[in-house]
Amino acid sequence: MTAELGELYQEVILEHSKAPRNFRRPASANHEAEGYNPLCGDRCSVYIDMDGDAIKEIGFQGSGCAISRASASMMTQMVKGKTKAEAVKLFEQFHNLVTGQDEAAKPGDLGKMAVFGGVSKFPARVKCATLAWHTLQSALEDERKREPVSTEE
Ligand code: ZN
Repeated sequence: MTAELGELYQEVILEHSKAPRNFRRPASANHEAEGYNPLCGDRCSVYIDMDGDAIKEIGFQGSGCAISRASASMMTQMVKGKTKAEAVKLFEQFHNLVTGQDEAAKPGDLGKMAVFGGVSKFPARVKCATLAWHTLQSALEDERKREPVSTEE
């Protein structure tokens, strides 16, 4: 393992990968989505219990590489209790971080997730890191189970 790759797999990423947080489907989940990253074979399902506009409870399941698992685990911790708009904003910041678009990114909002900044040096791993977030966004848009479909505008 090169020094750079070692840096990519920082302790916090390895730790979350081995013992992912919120690795379950909350019984109260009313939004969900499934994500797949064919480049690496990562699979991720995200389950949310939305209370109005707030992420009251969140969990994920799936299988994949250390980066994808750790990112999903830390994502669930980060967005729990946030509103939909706050979660989408965090995704934007995270996306900028891992794609290296935001060199001057202030890691303040992202907290521990700032460790994923190393991913920007490994373009092939960017989709591993963002899979859970893309799936989160899709789950947030999943309205099927929250409100009955209406034929009226
Ligand atoms: Zn992966």
